[in-house]
Amino acid sequence: MSFPARPRRVALISVHTSPLAQPGIGDAGGMNVYVAQTAQRLARRGIEVEIFTRATSSAQPQIERPLPGVTVRNIAAGPYEGLDKRDLPAQLCAFTAGVQRAEATQRPGYYDLVHSHYWLSGQVGWLVSDRWGVPLVHTAHTLAAVKNASLAEGDTAEPMLRVIGEQQVIDEADRLVANTDTEAAQLVSMYNADPARIDVVTPGADLDCYSPGSRAAARAELGVADDETVVTFVGRIQPLKAPDVLIAAAAPIIAAADRGERSKVRVLVVGGPSGSGLDRPTALIDLAAQLGISDAVTFLPPQPPSKLTQVYRASDIVAVPSYSESFGLVAIEAQACGIPVIAADVGGLGVAVDNGRTGLLVAGHAIGDWTNALEKLIDQPAERAGMGRAASAHAQQFSWEHTADQLLESYSRALRSFTASVGSGERGHRRWRRRRLSRAGV
Ligand code: UDP
Repeated sequence: MSFPARPRRVALISVHTSPLAQPGIGDAGGMNVYVAQTAQRLARRGIEVEIFTRATSSAQPQIERPLPGVTVRNIAAGPYEGLDKRDLPAQLCAFTAGVQRAEATQRPGYYDLVHSHYWLSGQVGWLVSDRWGVPLVHTAHTLAAVKNASLAEGDTAEPMLRVIGEQQVIDEADRLVANTDTEAAQLVSMYNADPARIDVVTPGADLDCYSPGSRAAARAELGVADDETVVTFVGRIQPLKAPDVLIAAAAPIIAAADRGERSKVRVLVVGGPSGSGLDRPTALIDLAAQLGISDAVTFLPPQPPSKLTQVYRASDIVAVPSYSESFGLVAIEAQACGIPVIAADVGGLGVAVDNGRTGLLVAGHAIGDWTNALEKLIDQPAERAGMGRAASAHAQQFSWEHTADQLLESYSRALRSFTASVGSGERGHRRWRRRRLSRAGV
């Protein structure tokens, strides 16, 4: 039996969140966008993509077909609503059973490859790829060891359960997809991953949607005054993302504006509570009140891409102060709209932002350093405009088309190495694969 040079049908596993969910709240964020966008691009390249995700509402049909070539299978595993992400490990058996049953309705050998997203999906992918005798490609999206090494104050560490589960998936996957060289190095140094099995695949932005446009029209649409400098945060609201750092850093600047010492500044926060942020959903409102800047902070609920484009266009600066970030799609989307970004110098943000040219990278989270960075860009509109132009050019290299091409290369490598390793008997522990392949005459 030989595998095709590239897969014809791929099973994407996304247990904890659906690509059809609105990102920017709860567990829906960059991974949803990643899965939805890459699925769409792979389908355009003639690959059938089936996405397995946990059903979260009884109203969801079992099967949805949002686009030609893309199927979403909502797998019943545990109660639809009210299950926390931390409870999901107990549902992986039920979820895996659902995936296996769905596969059993297809003809044998239907999927050529499994691509799992996040460690929970990796656990499922590990089992079903063994069962189906196909390679497993895994994208971690975030790594517990990295997150635990740079926790926000008061944030809870990722449990040992995850650290162990993540390690198992990293050990078992045929190929690992990392967002950046930094993440690849972390996989090697923190998880002892084999560097030869890692592919660095850069995420992207929907460049058709996120592009420069009229600031005045965007401000009119959002009801933002023309004479204010707007600094925007977009994303899931939780300590890890550090929107509080932005608000605290902007406070002295806003106070100076209130005293008439400088022009007006507004902070715009877009997104909804998520993760440990759900425990204190009003924390940012309280902080703004405590700092006496409530009137200069606007909160918007999560926005769909068409509206988010207008949010970026209405902004003068976008801030991404996260404590850890494996990439940071918001940084690319903002730059694609021609907006400079001030980001924490962590993880993939160092790749997403070209420091000093398309924005600024700030080391650490000291409020004073963030205030300085904000002042630097707020006070130099000409330099800021130049950075905005450089930002939109810089963002052009990050397209989902490019991501899909790179993923396809990773898939091809996985198929090649899988066939070779099975042929050489190297994978003695993968009993199911051998059985499946020997049934097929290999
Ligand atoms: N997002 C959105 N609407 C919102 C807030 C966020 O669609 O109101 C999307 C945003 O466009 C981006 C993703 O959510 O694509 C967040 O990805 P990022 O990598 O910045 O953060 P993550 O959620 O992965 O931590």
